[in-house]
Amino acid sequence: MVLPGLNIDDGLTRLAASCEEEISGGFARLDRICAHNQSKTLAAFRKNRVSESHFAWATGYGHGDVGREVTDRVFADVFGAETALVRPIITCGTHALSLVFLGILRPGDELLYCTGTPYDSLHDTIGLTGQGMGSLADFGVTFRKVDFTTDGRIDLDAVAAAIGPNTRMAAVQRATGYNDRRALTMPEIASWAKFVKDMRPDIVTMADNCYGEFLDTTEPTGNGVDIMAGSLIKNPGGGIALTGGYVAGRSDLVETVSYRMTCPGVGGDTGLMFGQTRTMLQGLLLAPQIVNGAVKGAMFCAALFGGLGFRVSPEPLDERSDIIETVCLGSPEAMEAFCEGIQAASPIDSFVKPIFEEMPEYEDEIIMAVGAFVQGSSIEMSADGPKREPYNIYFQGGLSYEYSKLGALMAAQRLLEKGLLTLP
Ligand SMILES: *Cc1c(COP(=O)(O)O)cnc(C)c1O
Repeated sequence: MVLPGLNIDDGLTRLAASCEEEISGGFARLDRICAHNQSKTLAAFRKNRVSESHFAWATGYGHGDVGREVTDRVFADVFGAETALVRPIITCGTHALSLVFLGILRPGDELLYCTGTPYDSLHDTIGLTGQGMGSLADFGVTFRKVDFTTDGRIDLDAVAAAIGPNTRMAAVQRATGYNDRRALTMPEIASWAKFVKDMRPDIVTMADNCYGEFLDTTEPTGNGVDIMAGSLIKNPGGGIALTGGYVAGRSDLVETVSYRMTCPGVGGDTGLMFGQTRTMLQGLLLAPQIVNGAVKGAMFCAALFGGLGFRVSPEPLDERSDIIETVCLGSPEAMEAFCEGIQAASPIDSFVKPIFEEMPEYEDEIIMAVGAFVQGSSIEMSADGPKREPYNIYFQGGLSYEYSKLGALMAAQRLLEKGLLTLP
């Protein structure tokens, strides 16, 4: 294997070749999922008769914007949902998820998280941190969480015990996030949703679907989950969408959320797409293939860093339900070196040196390598992690397998140069 222009150590290059052999047996399953999802997305475009005219700008109120309407319908069909709200004015995943919580929950209701502590950026929304910002806590919505069992499953007995008369919404986070945990597979999400509904059909089941889209042939909303949300600068934007988020699910619930997104009575019937329908839809069409490359890249990263003696999660050939590879690097210095390698292997800002820094919504300092065409995009190759024990780095994305592979190799190369790893 010759890699021009990157100066990768020969020993690493040889290890990479054997890693590739190790993981290639797992590619067939991913390619089947990709093929299924590709025909599913194409079918949604065909069914909804997407045409050039949908890419035009509306102005003013944006009443009857056909591009906006078709985008919602295509996403809904792809996600197996009744309705979707897909908007550039949903600024990120945190915003999309917060709209679901703040849109549906009312004073006196309880939100029950069934996958432990929610993703860091949601703590202010829930009111676990911060006060007076209009969090759920500020509005008298209480919060309770159920931790995973020791083997990383949803603790259904504890969920049953935690459900009380005020429980109005039960939620799961599909992906790993900044925690040491497995991502949930679709069958696990389906049986959790059924469990909750069998017990109390009135409870709204909800999924934080960030990073999970297209990892399987169906999504949570096709598996008994009432409503879900995610970001377009992750998987479903396919590296093409410039911004945006989505909420998808049962029509009555999505409508309620739309009143929070704009205002009561107005909902999703106004608002411009600012010329973004083309990129949102093109990104969705490409997303199955882009996610396929990212997952293969994560498998390579697992094989490489596992082969170098680091603890990795998931293991190279484990079944995956998000695009994240966790590498336990054990020190802030190693996290810095890893991120320097990823940054150096990026097409944009390859000359920049990532450093640990405070981030508004996060509790610990964060280091982040992302040299992306879309700022902060993490379906493009990126690595990040909080400065806390056990110094895990989360590696994800890459617009193709080959590119993601080079990133992992450059990360290992930087660790090698700094004396932070030894070749086997
Ligand atoms: C990224 C992410 C979020 C938040 O999304 P942002 O777009 O960064 O605001 C929420 N939950 C999970 C699991 C995520 O991975």
